Amino acid sequence: MSERFTGNFTQQEPIPEEGIAAAMDVLRHGRLHRYNLADGEKGEAALLEEEFAAAMGSKYCLAVTSGGYAMATALRAVGVTPGDKVLSNAFTLAPVPGAIAGVGADPVFVDVTEQLTIDLDDLAAKADRANVLLLSHMRGHICDMDALMEICDGADVRVIEDCAHTMGGSWRGVPSGRHGIAGCYSTQTYKHMNSGEGGFLITDDEELMARAVVLSGSYMLYERHGAAPGPEVFERIRLETPNMSGRMDNLRAAILRPQLRALAEQCERWNMRYRALEDGLRGVAGVQIINRPNDEYFVGSSFQFLLPGRSGADIRALMERCTARGVELKWFGDEEPVAFTSKYTSWAYASPEPLPKTDKVLAGLMDMRVPLTFSVEDCAQIARIIADEVRT
Ligand SMILES: *Cc1c(COP(=O)(O)O)cnc(C)c1O
Repeated sequence: MSERFTGNFTQQEPIPEEGIAAAMDVLRHGRLHRYNLADGEKGEAALLEEEFAAAMGSKYCLAVTSGGYAMATALRAVGVTPGDKVLSNAFTLAPVPGAIAGVGADPVFVDVTEQLTIDLDDLAAKADRANVLLLSHMRGHICDMDALMEICDGADVRVIEDCAHTMGGSWRGVPSGRHGIAGCYSTQTYKHMNSGEGGFLITDDEELMARAVVLSGSYMLYERHGAAPGPEVFERIRLETPNMSGRMDNLRAAILRPQLRALAEQCERWNMRYRALEDGLRGVAGVQIINRPNDEYFVGSSFQFLLPGRSGADIRALMERCTARGVELKWFGDEEPVAFTSKYTSWAYASPEPLPKTDKVLAGLMDMRVPLTFSVEDCAQIARIIADEVRT
């Protein structure tokens, strides 16, 4: 009888007790709106902003309703307007091109390499086509950020980082989100902190942050923010910046603050699980492991590997055999978008140009989430099952 995995690929850990207690306090006093404050009270949302800015080493931080909202707000705040072009990764998730489309701009997709990072040669070739790059550290893979910044600085392209999968990660010791002009994060349930929905925007640029705060729906209450510039900066932009409601509330902020304190430890727990999967699949004929550079500190909250040269029918059959043994693999090569996975050709509204190099990588790209409810032994078992079925 072959072994079968019985864990649940979408079950996250519970909210820490400290977060539940803090949430109960907010529910009891009823001041859920971030600007509804008692005398002398800073509020959970403002405190969370202070703490997240400190954790990432940024001057400013804004907490918002989602990662997608953070990206759209960053694009608006750097001055992207309808009809502009914005460079972005061909390999990413739908909210990334969606944020670009949301501001009326047109994505220009850049190839992915076999390391699952943005193709710097393709980026250099396309850098004269836009003034902004929305860089997605998709599935936590961080490219050579020094080389990327050199290309972008040289071409006057401003970089907004999508750190939905790299919260807690870094390149050569610099936190993900601190290389470009702004970093965006998600606190949606499947990311590195869980408030159901939520997100952050960080930057050192005072005017960008002032615009973002007003865009997020601060009205003229921007002085109640925890990590925003002084009122003199708002004076310059407040009447020319629209209010596009997307605020974080005190309830979700209360849930997130204890999770932020535990982030570094959680990242280590993810990486132990990631290494167990990697160890179990390394050396299996036909499986190409993704090489992780020493300069990258990644967060292994998901795991990818390549099955180069296999047909789509073959991969579908492999996925079915794995599913029958309790292992749910996702595939980025499918022509049809399925659940969370879609590929650039499915974003027809963006009229994507064909990218044969990317197609070749995606055709063999397998993916799975690694929830922290899995033990390290669970991950070793999952790897054994996949290895077994790949060999079949
Ligand atoms: C989840 C995700 C986002 C968007 O985050 P939401 O909070 O769901 O809007 C952006 N980029 C990537 C790569 C994501 O996985």
